[in-house]
Amino acid sequence: MPTSGDASGALPHPHVVLLPSAGMGHLVPFSRLAVSLSSSDHGCGVSVATVLPTVSSAESAHLEALFSACPAVRRLDFHLARFDASEFPGADPFFLRFEAMRRSAPLLGPLLAGAGASALVTDIALASVVIPVAKELGLPCYVLFTASTAMLSLCVHFPAYLDANAGGPVGDVDVPGVYRISKASIPQALHHPEHLFTRQFVANGRELAKADGLLVNSFDEFEPEAIAALRDGSVVAGFPNVFSVGPLAPVSFSASEPAENQADYMQWLAAQPARSVVYVSFGSRKAISKDQLRELAVGLEASGHRFLWVVKSTVVDRDDEAELSELLGEGFLERVQGRGMVTKGWVEQEEVLKQESIGLFISHCGWNSVTEAAANGLPVLAWPRFGDQRVNAGVVARSGLGVWEERWSWEGEEGMVSGESIAEKVKAVMADETVRNKARDFCLSNRLSQMDALQHDCVVDFAELKVEYPS
Ligand code: UDP
Ligand code: UDP
Repeated sequence: MPTSGDASGALPHPHVVLLPSAGMGHLVPFSRLAVSLSSSDHGCGVSVATVLPTVSSAESAHLEALFSACPAVRRLDFHLARFDASEFPGADPFFLRFEAMRRSAPLLGPLLAGAGASALVTDIALASVVIPVAKELGLPCYVLFTASTAMLSLCVHFPAYLDANAGGPVGDVDVPGVYRISKASIPQALHHPEHLFTRQFVANGRELAKADGLLVNSFDEFEPEAIAALRDGSVVAGFPNVFSVGPLAPVSFSASEPAENQADYMQWLAAQPARSVVYVSFGSRKAISKDQLRELAVGLEASGHRFLWVVKSTVVDRDDEAELSELLGEGFLERVQGRGMVTKGWVEQEEVLKQESIGLFISHCGWNSVTEAAANGLPVLAWPRFGDQRVNAGVVARSGLGVWEERWSWEGEEGMVSGESIAEKVKAVMADETVRNKARDFCLSNRLSQMDALQHDCVVDFAELKVEYPS
């Protein structure tokens, strides 16, 4: 990790400190925002508050690449207080890191004051504990929401829903001015009031109205209902400004050493016909059961289409132990040779999605993946697995970016999706020109460029410590 990232040197004014929580789904949009704000057009000094060691090695590699490729973005080390994780046996390692960071919020005051911060952009997962610290310092505090605006509207409304529900089980949630989010789409944890995630989610939802503004990695045509309802006070009266700054521009850091597998799959993708390859990835956060992986293998093989599949069978980073052939079934890799690429390594998804040969993205609908698909005009076959992903899949289906097979199960539900169903759906969506054309409408080359979305649609003017939305 380079020491040049230390924020002690003189920084241009204003100095915006960005505070991501944990996990690539949070770090990626924060680093995109960091690079954009530090670009000459914005001219902000930018520091990223960084907790080391990170939970996953993907995060540490990403941070290292960010700080070495973009020296204008400084590292501000955030040392956490001691945290005893045994209080939460079996909890998700990323939620534990959220909690450890939340409990260390009082340490942020001196850190931000010492760094000469003039504004703070915090992560949603930390919002309720960080906003009061910023207020105390007189620092404007914005929240970058890393999921869909539909999910933001749920986060904002959910505390009121629980208050009205008086301890009853969580059912369908009607978000005022937005739409009804069905019980089945509510993140698993939110059905359990004592769950660590739920406690954080409710606390954050209650405090958000005190932020100076919300930045969402979305755009108005993609989520018209949720963005309008938050802005016009339908979800909650007096909610701060919501700035749609998405899709945030991807940043590629040319790694000094490209990953071992990268040359192989990029070369292979470049050699395939246009729109012929199905890209399959379920993100960086969750594992898929081995039985379900086998069915997916059967489905991809039976679809008859070419595919690039990123396999993930453990929660943090990739599984170095299990061999692919053991995971996917005897003879699978041999049978699909030439037509299917399978990797357990990290792939450069932004580069993959730009390839002409990609025709469909089977995605878990992590919000970054959804916005990356939209930016590339690529249809999505949504297979949400966990957390906010069904809410995001709802956006995919409503907007027309892709299709969502709602009967497909997710974590905690009985039932395996059979290889046969997967094959049928893949064949149907690959053959569906309407879906393909609709997805292409979202392509950024047909719209304002990503950078422009930040620079023109929405002027985040930290120089005057105010945010404006041009009429
Ligand atoms: N990603 C990647 N390579 C991988 C897996 C993920 O580049 O092998 C990136 C992906 O492009 C996205 C982020 O990691 O920007 C994952 O965020 P997302 O919100 O899609 O899902 P999460 O991993 O948080 O579930
Ligand atoms: N989230 C939220 N309120 C919170 C914490 C998280 O609305 O208090 C959102 C957050 O934007 C995230 C989603 O809920 O995208 C799921 O959270 P998690 O961190 O588990 O998922 P990840 O983004 O890492 O895949």
